[in-house]
Amino acid sequence: MSTQDHAPYVAVCPECDVDLRTEAPNEIVEFYRRHYRVTGHDVEIERAQVDLAEDVANDGLKDVVWQLQDRYENGVPFGVVAAVMSDHGVSIGETLDEIHDVRMTGGLYEPQDDHLGAF
Ligand SMILES: [Zn+2]
Repeated sequence: MSTQDHAPYVAVCPECDVDLRTEAPNEIVEFYRRHYRVTGHDVEIERAQVDLAEDVANDGLKDVVWQLQDRYENGVPFGVVAAVMSDHGVSIGETLDEIHDVRMTGGLYEPQDDHLGAF
């Protein structure tokens, strides 16, 4: 898993044919933000660690965080949440918007930047 070709997380912009391969899920989120700011395009997650997604039966944002948070000491990275949601057909942009909304209503908190915990 140490070479770029086997990066567990891959995001692409189909419109620009650019991609990002990384081992750090939140780099996908950074890539999305940079790319969206410059081009307005929503990038797609092409590959993610699917073992995470298979464990999550429910695709509600809060349920996803709830079910994953035991695995992450300081919060579930946004990129992991986005990858799971992407598996359910929700785009990165939609997931980040929903994270914002749910945080406003108090269902989620951010133990550190770009990481989530569920109450
Ligand atoms: Zn693009």
